[in-house]
Amino acid sequence: MVELKTDTSIDAMHAAGRVVGQALTAVRDAADVGVSLLELDEVARGVLREAGATSPFLGYRPSFAPTPFPAVICASVNDAIVHGIPTAYRLRDGDLVSIDCGAVLDGWAGDSALSFTVGRPIPADLRLIETADRALAAGIEAAVVGNRIGDIAHAVGSVCRAAGYGIPDGFGGHGIGRAMHEDPPVPNEGRPGRGLRLRHGMVLAIEPMVIGGGGDGYHEAPDGWTLRTNDGSRAAHAEHTVAITETGPRVLTARSLRVG
Ligand code: MG
Ligand code: MG
Repeated sequence: MVELKTDTSIDAMHAAGRVVGQALTAVRDAADVGVSLLELDEVARGVLREAGATSPFLGYRPSFAPTPFPAVICASVNDAIVHGIPTAYRLRDGDLVSIDCGAVLDGWAGDSALSFTVGRPIPADLRLIETADRALAAGIEAAVVGNRIGDIAHAVGSVCRAAGYGIPDGFGGHGIGRAMHEDPPVPNEGRPGRGLRLRHGMVLAIEPMVIGGGGDGYHEAPDGWTLRTNDGSRAAHAEHTVAITETGPRVLTARSLRVG
């Protein structure tokens, strides 16, 4: 069932989304060559704690997972697409990092992700990240009253495919509210004009994932969480929580621009 949120609830979700944006900005600023993924998780924990928010990731255990998730961010490096568990791994020159973070504030959830490089970037990685960001922007642009879920899926998928990238089938966006994952699913590829009609008050997490090698194949790492590309190529991920309103899409997890 898809729950429509009141404007007051959307405002409350915006407050949760701001905390997510702050956490992601802090993690990105802290990330550098030699910094460990566990240290980045600590940075995000500090932001959530300071804001009085809790993590919907910590202890999360969906049916596929062998263990409760142990962190407040997912940190997926290079060929890891999503769901990477932060470890003692220290970032290396040229790594491509995807960070996913959520927060729950006053009972409402926010969910967002970004990808970036540390050290000297590989040009192909910058193009991959830029494409994920552009696919997200296209998805948000399609998130308007009267459109359908398929229009968002098509907008996201078209950008990724036009750039020659793969899309991991079976993972994508979702409704969000008091729970991090609600109906409806928001696939990263689909046919325009199909699926549920978008209405004022729907709140969706839109989250393109792109595989640089062009194939769609992925597998689960031995930790039971991390999804990696089958061809070893790098992947990027971008996500925002977006409310559909009569006056257009409202991004609830927007981040302040990074200086420098
Ligand atoms: Mg997320
Ligand atoms: Mg999500």
